[in-house]
Amino acid sequence: MLSRRRRAFHLRRVMLAAGLWMKLRKRRRCAPTSRQDSENPLLTATKKGSDETMDVEDVMDGAPSDDNFEPPQPRGPVRSRKPPTRKPGEEGDTLPSGPKPRKIQLLRSVFEGRPPVVLFSYTQACCAEQRPLDRAVPADEDGPRMFYSHTDAIHQYNAVINILRHGGLYRVRAETNRWTVLWSLHPTPEQLQRFSPVQRANHFPGSYHLGRKDLIWRNLAKMQQRFGKEYQITPQGYILPKAFLAWDAARLRQSDALWIWKPCSQSCGRGITVLSSDVPEEQLRDLAKKRGIIQRYIPNPLLIGGRKFDMRIYVVVLSYDPLKVFINDEGLVRFATELYSDAVETLQSRMMHLTNYSVNKQNPAFVQNLDGQGEEEKEDAGVDEAGQPKASKWSLKELRIHFARESLDFDALWEAMKDLVIKTLISVEEPLKADWCKTLGIEDGGWSARGPGGAHRGSCFEIYGFDILVDRSLKPWLLEVNICPSLSSGSPLDKRIKTKLVADVLTLVGVHPPAALWKLSPESVHWPASGNVSPSDDNEAAAGCLISEDEMRKRALKLAGQSPQEAVSLFDEVAWELVVEAHDQEMRSGGLEMAFPCPNGSRYVQYWGEESYCNLVLRKWQEAGGDAIFRSKKLPPWVPRQVCFSKT
Ligand code: ADP
Repeated sequence: MLSRRRRAFHLRRVMLAAGLWMKLRKRRRCAPTSRQDSENPLLTATKKGSDETMDVEDVMDGAPSDDNFEPPQPRGPVRSRKPPTRKPGEEGDTLPSGPKPRKIQLLRSVFEGRPPVVLFSYTQACCAEQRPLDRAVPADEDGPRMFYSHTDAIHQYNAVINILRHGGLYRVRAETNRWTVLWSLHPTPEQLQRFSPVQRANHFPGSYHLGRKDLIWRNLAKMQQRFGKEYQITPQGYILPKAFLAWDAARLRQSDALWIWKPCSQSCGRGITVLSSDVPEEQLRDLAKKRGIIQRYIPNPLLIGGRKFDMRIYVVVLSYDPLKVFINDEGLVRFATELYSDAVETLQSRMMHLTNYSVNKQNPAFVQNLDGQGEEEKEDAGVDEAGQPKASKWSLKELRIHFARESLDFDALWEAMKDLVIKTLISVEEPLKADWCKTLGIEDGGWSARGPGGAHRGSCFEIYGFDILVDRSLKPWLLEVNICPSLSSGSPLDKRIKTKLVADVLTLVGVHPPAALWKLSPESVHWPASGNVSPSDDNEAAAGCLISEDEMRKRALKLAGQSPQEAVSLFDEVAWELVVEAHDQEMRSGGLEMAFPCPNGSRYVQYWGEESYCNLVLRKWQEAGGDAIFRSKKLPPWVPRQVCFSKT
């Protein structure tokens, strides 16, 4: 018996090795035959058939694709074959053919005289259509290396690792502090206080205010109390057991209502129950003791082919002050695998009422979406002749096509979803600001608080997974926000969307290369500066807004009462730096759409206790015409000239 097991084990190992060898052979066969192609990183990135920086891990994740919060999963370090010249803790190339230096591409600013950022183009394996690369230039090959750190405290997604490597960065341990990108849990006070101005981390301290079901409800409920219907963007909730009596009274008042109970910090549908107002005594006693949140259940979801679905929308925040929000133009649509009914007898059926992938994948009726294997969705993707979704997961693009076919207004829904996202983020700004100050040990410093090493309001960014349900009147409802959305690529569709998302986010964030990587060849990466514009130094460009909170308040007072045109004419260098940076970011946002600041930003002013100087400047700029202003000839001499007008 034992020897048979051992034989099977050896057989499996041989088969695994053979599979890996075949994969490498196939990649080699696809590699460019022209020497010139393989040596020019720009061509490498744009042409199909090259595998310049592709690594053996660039395959589909085996990890489940739950699109949900992934609890931290300590994992062993990445296997790496270190070349002898490497410093301790620094990663080498993993290709078995020997060390191969990674190549960095830089993306020029659209403004003259401003330094470039690192460009993270899409891996060929993810099958996403490459973004326009006309502003990309290779970095100085003999320049210094750039590094990232991915700690073992969180799950390691191939989408993240592959894009960081493809972007030319090498991995180091977090303690070395040599990295420019830190992909980990929330930065600790010790870490954040050591941050230099160019270092970036993938979490804001304190974003659990958004990610925990009870805390987000508390933040949104406060806003609902103040602003009423305008803030009814999530179903009414009660945090149990504290608010048990309030819920019990509501349940008795609304005898026809349905409810959904959820544990506060769980995900993937774990522990969720759907119930009617008519709750048996025993269950009531249980609910009165258990920690969780109970919400009004939305009984009338929009159905496709009779099935309930929800949407996973990827939202990127670059800073909370100024609030800079981008929404990915692609997201996921997740279907329940059983036909929907709101009859009380069906409430136990999780595959009818919950749309989580982790719940529905267990149903033999679950159909994988294979789109993304080579080409983006075809027009006919969607429903079959019987009106049933052909796959249990769609991309947002497929949903858009479906809406158009059914004469439903997707654009109106998209606008309403952007509004929901902005309102949600404003509702958590205060607690996040408090956590920012606490982490830096500077009480009442506001977002102007800086770390001793140079951490600033732009040092962190975050990718959020907003789960949104649409009802039959096409109103979007926020179900929850995941602060660690799954980036696993369990299907070709997931792989395309998530790999592209990570690449777009990192390019947007703006990883600043050391000057030695680009200053040697300024004509190629640095648009010549004309007149008396002085090119900003790397650190300066990455340092965020440098004036104190008091000074900002004074300047805000001066601008607040002015018309947008007048306010813009009063902008000083600090204000223009904010505007130029925001516009430069938008011009390199790839598939991410800027949702805030936006031209109708004035409607959100009331929701902040006090509109900050940074938000005010960007709002006035938007109201005065936004990017069109840069085409005007009457800008002050210190404003850099915009020399490129096409978005990347
Ligand atoms: P989890 O973090 O466990 O995934 P969610 O809040 O996302 O918890 O809920 C899981 C699923 O339950 C959702 O994807 C959705 O299909 C359904 N659901 C959650 N809240 C509601 C609600 N208030 N009304 C209707 N359906 C809901």
